[in-house]
Amino acid sequence: MTRVLRTRAELRAALAAAPRPIGLVPTMGWLHDGHRSLIRRARADNPTVVVTIFVNPRQFHRPDDFSRYPRSQDRDVAICADEEVDLVWAPPVDEVYVPGFDTTVTVGAIAGPLEGAARPGHFDGVATVVAILFGLVGAEHAYFGQKDAQQVMVIRRMARDLALPTEVVACPTVREPDGLALSSRNVHLSPAERAAAPVLERALRAARDRWATGERSGDALRASMSAILSAEPLAAPEYVSVADAVTLAELERVDRPALLSLAVRIGSTRLIDNELLDGPAGT
Ligand code: AMP
Repeated sequence: MTRVLRTRAELRAALAAAPRPIGLVPTMGWLHDGHRSLIRRARADNPTVVVTIFVNPRQFHRPDDFSRYPRSQDRDVAICADEEVDLVWAPPVDEVYVPGFDTTVTVGAIAGPLEGAARPGHFDGVATVVAILFGLVGAEHAYFGQKDAQQVMVIRRMARDLALPTEVVACPTVREPDGLALSSRNVHLSPAERAAAPVLERALRAARDRWATGERSGDALRASMSAILSAEPLAAPEYVSVADAVTLAELERVDRPALLSLAVRIGSTRLIDNELLDGPAGT
């Protein structure tokens, strides 16, 4: 039986009796198969699974992005029930940010480039809400998608630095058959935009293919992504990156594990995607 809880007190009371370990899956709702894959991994690893549904105002850089973020709690709770989630915590804002709330968690260098540069304040909002969720739930394991690769790195850094006892588990990106990474934001795409959106994955694949045949110039790999994107009239790239997979510093030569990543506007919808290059060429 899936129980839906609203307050911190309800959550604490339910967790006191919960078998351990606990697996936590933080989400902003409008659940899709990407979220389901995280929940399934949590379900396989833990006797208690907690899903949180909270559209976190502090991680939105633009007010219009926050207000138009899709929400449907009935649908989300039905998906959680289908996945045999034990507890859904869907709090109002003041149960997350208690009256007088005045703390911000800021992660350093790893939060600076890419999404951190494109969305000022975004990772402060993410780190702060995740620190609250880790504190409230006290889970042994928390599950995050590799789709948001820099987010996983930021949260890992925070958890290590602050000695939070929750282990961060990264799960693979779930894609549509045409390669588009699932995202709650995909619902905003018009049919023409939806048809254009797989260009992100095609750009990543083009760079991966060049890398696999021996190309080691960061500029050449960035250029191969940009070339694919510029052939799609509906795509407006924000950044294309070939970065050190540990530090996220842009690479001149790809002589170590690297993260290919990009952010692209398709119409008014901003999409991100990434792929790790971490083996020897050809693998
Ligand atoms: P969100 O609700 O968009 O904040 O996402 C909640 C969690 O689901 C985050 O850890 C995301 O990285 C993860 N997630 C979102 N989309 C996908 C996807 N296509 N595949 C795997 N995980 C995903």
